[in-house]
Amino acid sequence: MTNKKLERSRRCPACGWKFPISKVSAPIDRVDGKTFNCPDCKTALVYRTESGPMYRIFTLMTIPAVTLMFLYRDSALLETIGAFVILPLAIIAAVIWRRSEFIELVK
Ligand SMILES: [Zn+2]
Repeated sequence: MTNKKLERSRRCPACGWKFPISKVSAPIDRVDGKTFNCPDCKTALVYRTESGPMYRIFTLMTIPAVTLMFLYRDSALLETIGAFVILPLAIIAAVIWRRSEFIELVK
C-alpha cells in the first residue's frame, strides 16, 4: 500500500466538478467518509474532512447563538459581542473547515 497522498481538492478527479462551498447547494451532508456520486459525471466519490467534529459543534452552536441574538437584539453589549467576537469566529471557523475538506474517488 503505497498510497501517495494526492493533492487535496474539492474537485472531482474525473471531470473537475467542484464541491460547492455553500451548504444549500452541496449534494450531500458534509459528513466525513460519506459517499456520493458526482452530479456531473456520476463517478463514485467520497467526501472527506478533518474538521468534521468542529463543523458539527459549530453548526450546533449556531442555533443558540442566533436565538440569543434574537432575544437580546436590543442589547448594545450583545450586538458588540456579535459583531466583534461571534462573526469573526464564524468566518475563521468557516475558512478552517473549508480548507480541510476534500473529495476523492471511492476505493
Ligand atoms: Zn465528476
